[in-house]
Amino acid sequence: MSGPNTDFDPVEVAALKPEEVEAARDAALAAIAGAADLDALKKVRIEHTGDRSPLALANREIGALPPAARKEAGQRVGQARGAVQQALAARQAELQAEHEQRMLAEETVDVTLPTDRLPTGARHPVTTGSELIADIFVAMGWEVAEGPVLEAEWLNFDALNLGPDHPARTMQDTFWTDPAEDHLVLRTHTSPVQARTMLAQQPPIYVVCPGRVFRTDEYDATHSPVFHQVEGLAVDKGISMAHLKGTLDHFAASMFGEGINTRFRPSYFPFTEPSAEVDLVCFVCRGVDPDDCRTCRGEGWIEWGGCGVVNPRVLRACGIDPDTYSGFAFGMGIDRTLMFRHGIEDLRALFEGDVRFTAAFGAEL
Ligand SMILES: [Zn+2]
Repeated sequence: MSGPNTDFDPVEVAALKPEEVEAARDAALAAIAGAADLDALKKVRIEHTGDRSPLALANREIGALPPAARKEAGQRVGQARGAVQQALAARQAELQAEHEQRMLAEETVDVTLPTDRLPTGARHPVTTGSELIADIFVAMGWEVAEGPVLEAEWLNFDALNLGPDHPARTMQDTFWTDPAEDHLVLRTHTSPVQARTMLAQQPPIYVVCPGRVFRTDEYDATHSPVFHQVEGLAVDKGISMAHLKGTLDHFAASMFGEGINTRFRPSYFPFTEPSAEVDLVCFVCRGVDPDDCRTCRGEGWIEWGGCGVVNPRVLRACGIDPDTYSGFAFGMGIDRTLMFRHGIEDLRALFEGDVRFTAAFGAEL
């Protein structure tokens, strides 16, 4: 390649002719003005000021000129390059500003536009209600137990002292499954979970069992062939009816508020002895002047569930020595409890899956 020489060489230095320099400058300025965005400008910069651009080439050729000609050529090329750099900087600033304006405009949020947000779902009140009940007992140190809904006939009835002739076993109350020799039923209460717990572990036992149960009931405002129960079982040394009463009073106050306690009325269940019906103080009139109260119909009390001291025959059937241990058990409908708590008038609202109903329970229960 050419090194510095002292002779004017018109071939080598063609790039330094004034018209060539002007043409290169004008082409660069035109390209800069025509660059529509920052990316295009970047390409123009490489093409017209990069190492291979005509002006860079011309600049390199200055050294090849005879000393006398270098000054004028250097000025000419320098001015041309300066003009191009200036134009580049100006266009860069212009395009940068335009870009920022465009970003601001594109990213603007119009808070007055209508939204197309989808409605938020809610967990079903029976689910959240069951969890709330379980939490009350877990806070007392109890455990939550669960069992299958398709249950062995023996666990659903025999283990709980419901003998072969007990009326609850008839076709009128129980969903039996085919084939009959499998002796499986859709569980009619959550009590078999208690039996399973006693068969699996020795006392002390403190379990609460919420779950779905099935009976051949009509479907109306107060009945359903599928409903939800919660049962509790405590088996330990020295357990008495007094422990049962204290536990249920605490449960009632936790569900319905301070001052809502329970009363027992003598009753009969095969798996407890003695047995009692549990009533709640009416949480509307609180038992004070109940005559005009529609909720308790003037009673001052509301039926809530059943309970009692575990029948020694049940303990024995489940492998626990009734001479050493005693226990209490209770059970109530979760659906009925939620109807009280939230003023739900028709049981069917809990089973029909209408989101307008369940959404109201989404935030809190
Ligand atoms: Zn009342």
